[in-house]
Amino acid sequence: MMGHSHALSGAVGWMAVVPLLDGTEILGTTFHMGPGEIIAGALVCAGAALIPDLDHKSATITQTYGALTQTLGAFMNWVFGGHRNGTHSLLFAVIMGAIAQSLALWSEMAVQVFVFLLVGIAFNGLGLGLDKNRTAAGVINALLTAGVTLALYSAGTDYAWMGAAVAFGCLLHFVGDMATHMGVPLLWPFTGYRVGQNVGFKTDGKIERNVVTPALTIAIVIYSFYLFDWPELLPEI
Ligand SMILES: [Zn+2]
Repeated sequence: MMGHSHALSGAVGWMAVVPLLDGTEILGTTFHMGPGEIIAGALVCAGAALIPDLDHKSATITQTYGALTQTLGAFMNWVFGGHRNGTHSLLFAVIMGAIAQSLALWSEMAVQVFVFLLVGIAFNGLGLGLDKNRTAAGVINALLTAGVTLALYSAGTDYAWMGAAVAFGCLLHFVGDMATHMGVPLLWPFTGYRVGQNVGFKTDGKIERNVVTPALTIAIVIYSFYLFDWPELLPEI
């Protein structure tokens, strides 16, 4: 799938699980999912849904922060054995989730920086960086990212769910790739067998452009109505 479809699927996926997570206790942590957690989680999950393609040098995410993401991407490509290999495995999702959760537990500052980077990646992936005028798009993206991160910070957003959102974003990426012809080596490094290869629709083909992307966009709108009780905000007739 294309970067923007992956990013959209991350946001939709998070919005779909939020009602299930709210109030549940996992490993001694009770999750409270208020508006800040819903928005932060949707953006973190959208950004995380692009992480597996960091191993490809022309992927949206690899280009997001210039030399920083390019170097990280080259490193990932080397560690995980080339494009769409180890970075598209269940093991990778677990590792990324563990790193993100450790950051959240380790320092509040670290988690803010991490959220900032992921929100920027999400916005870039959703298409804010695809404008013809790259400099302007970059500035708008940076301002928006900074604004959103700051707003989430001042709202006292709780990041207890950080690891779960990152791992879930990676898993949604695999689902997206399995839905296209690519196939994903889920059980790497034990076996390189690609689940879902040659089944599904073509990347950036008619189905992705005319069905999948619009459906994901509509799902975000519907979930927003549902999660934020928007109809209640409308004036009574
Ligand atoms: Zn991929």
